Amino acid sequence: MLSFEQARQLVVTKAKAHAGPRSSLPLPVQEALGYVLAEEIRSDRDYPPFHRSTRDGYAVRSGEATPGKTLRCVGEIKAGDTVSQPLSPGTCVQIMTGAGVPPGADAVVMIELTKRAGDAVSFDRATEPGQNIVPRGVEAHRGDLALRTGLRLGFAELAVAAQVGAAIVRCYKKPRVAILSTGDEVVPIEETPGPFHIRNSNTVSLAAQIRLAGGEPVPLVNALDRVDDLSGKIEQGLCDEVLVLSGGVSMGKYDLVETVLKSMGAEFFFDAVAIRPGKPVVFGRCRNTLVFGLPGNPVSTMVTFQLFVLPALDILSGTKPRPLPLLEATLAEPLEEKTGLTHFLPARIEWNGCAAKVAALPWQGSGDISTLTRANCFLVVPAERSAVAAGESVSVLPRMDVL
Ligand code: AMP
Ligand code: MG
Repeated sequence: MLSFEQARQLVVTKAKAHAGPRSSLPLPVQEALGYVLAEEIRSDRDYPPFHRSTRDGYAVRSGEATPGKTLRCVGEIKAGDTVSQPLSPGTCVQIMTGAGVPPGADAVVMIELTKRAGDAVSFDRATEPGQNIVPRGVEAHRGDLALRTGLRLGFAELAVAAQVGAAIVRCYKKPRVAILSTGDEVVPIEETPGPFHIRNSNTVSLAAQIRLAGGEPVPLVNALDRVDDLSGKIEQGLCDEVLVLSGGVSMGKYDLVETVLKSMGAEFFFDAVAIRPGKPVVFGRCRNTLVFGLPGNPVSTMVTFQLFVLPALDILSGTKPRPLPLLEATLAEPLEEKTGLTHFLPARIEWNGCAAKVAALPWQGSGDISTLTRANCFLVVPAERSAVAAGESVSVLPRMDVL
């Protein structure tokens, strides 16, 4: 059986081989958060566009601004003012943060390090040339690459696009991801469940995870555990680039997902991974769609999505797969687990300064989503470990939505 690392690597390889050219759309920069850039964006001018003061203070000739000397203040420059007048020897000018430094001045002295009497300004310390000035063009020159194709747009990338005047940005269309829950017991959340029915929470959590991953969720109507219903609904899901199923992949008599997919021409890359929860997870391709069959227990669905579906969605979005962001933490309480499978236990990580401590939360197994609301991460117990002592260093997978 594959380890989760091997299975993840296989997802990356297969998704890369599967990903074709993507179509794109123009979007107002304010609406482009989480999209992947489909064009390169270049600087429209030098940045900063002028020699910019980074402090409130006095613009000076550095050699003249020394302790024991006074300079005559001849005016002020605030942010946004047009600066053309050069600074004459023996003078200084009051300047604000973000304002342009006048020609002739080569330093700004913070106001806190000066004294002023009338228009005479004196200085507490020697002044270094260049201090508190960001020269024109040091961040970027006009025409330089500001944002490259394939970059995921986060708040900083959006700010750069805004800075260079890219009010409309061309982005790749998000991959459409069909969601198909399965199970005779699963009912829509709007309905009152019968005594042995379960509301369909997986379609809701999967849609949320797909959105966070940069995909566009396409929820389908739940499929019953019957070949005809399942194949009809899978047929609908195959209209999209990715199909994520939940449930029906275990060993039960009515776990028909693999059988039905196979009869529809699916090729499987794996159908089990050495993890708990989530061992029966399935990954393959059917016609032109990547298919993930995630186990139906809600925590299994969530963990396997984060481990295996997320990197595929990055690749199909037109960007690099994000790495698994494992953290290191000190185990707060001892643990015992069966060997053979890597465990992902709902856990809470807390920091004291830089020192992270993690504790697994008591839970009722992979159907227990209430415990997950108190967890901010999954504690990773390696397959070969039957016990981990308090104080040992362990790996932690942050929940993709809360950390
Ligand atoms: P399965 O993987 O089909 O054997 O389902 C395992 C467990 O997950 C069962 O207890 C199901 O009732 C539950 N389950 C399956 N699908 C869903 C769903 N869409 N929402 C909530 N629970 C589910
Ligand atoms: Mg089922």
